Amino acid sequence: MKDKSPSGDTITFLGTAGARVMVAKQILASGGLWLNLSGTEILLDPGPGCIVQSTKRKLSADKLSAIILSHRHLDHSADANIMVEAMTQGGFKRHGWLFAPADCLETEPVIFSYLKSYLEGVEVLQEGKSYSVGNISFSTPVRHIHPVETYGMFFTTAEHTFSYIADSRYFDGLCHSYGGELLIINVVRLEANHPYDHLSLPDAKRIITELNPKVAILTHFGMTMWRAKPWEVAQGLSQETGVRVLAARDGMRFDLSQLDSN
Ligand SMILES: [Zn+2]
Repeated sequence: MKDKSPSGDTITFLGTAGARVMVAKQILASGGLWLNLSGTEILLDPGPGCIVQSTKRKLSADKLSAIILSHRHLDHSADANIMVEAMTQGGFKRHGWLFAPADCLETEPVIFSYLKSYLEGVEVLQEGKSYSVGNISFSTPVRHIHPVETYGMFFTTAEHTFSYIADSRYFDGLCHSYGGELLIINVVRLEANHPYDHLSLPDAKRIITELNPKVAILTHFGMTMWRAKPWEVAQGLSQETGVRVLAARDGMRFDLSQLDSN
């Protein structure tokens, strides 16, 4: 993935699976997001298969500057250990940072303790804080409503801004915390009024309408969303909201320069 200029922003979807069955059966892949932002490469939420999906797509873990976990659930963190090892060339090159909520690191850590010494450092994500990595910065504006400590992120690159709304139950403060030209949103369920702490399609519609980004990308699909054909769902949402809504596909690479035309 040679990028001639240090500028430019791309996001590669190493997976789009959301709920347990989708992940366990690998109906869709679950490797997380690979960000290449202003020349800084960051891995976000390395779920099961991240090492396979990333190497298959010729993405080099040793080029990563950081790995970020939105929360400790398996579909977001299962490959964190192997990706730390890959980022640090098997531990031979002390390199890179890990960002994660405190409960990823405490009583039952998702990262083996011996791997921590391979890293340049570990930073604990907290509500309302900002962080910088290489040429970019990001913030974790609000704690989500989810069974474990969870944060979404607002990223600022040299040229663009975008939000990643990770797993959460809908709540009124959610919209106000995010913004930017691009919105990536984890939409697990098709129907509203369910007992799970996950966003549904009606929630996504509300958030997209409120935030009015240039482009919104739906991902992290559960079975009900998958059966409804996410690309058709996205098309419907585009018509209803007037925002260009896309459904992520496994392996899709989104170039943020698409946001620049008009
Ligand atoms: Zn979760």
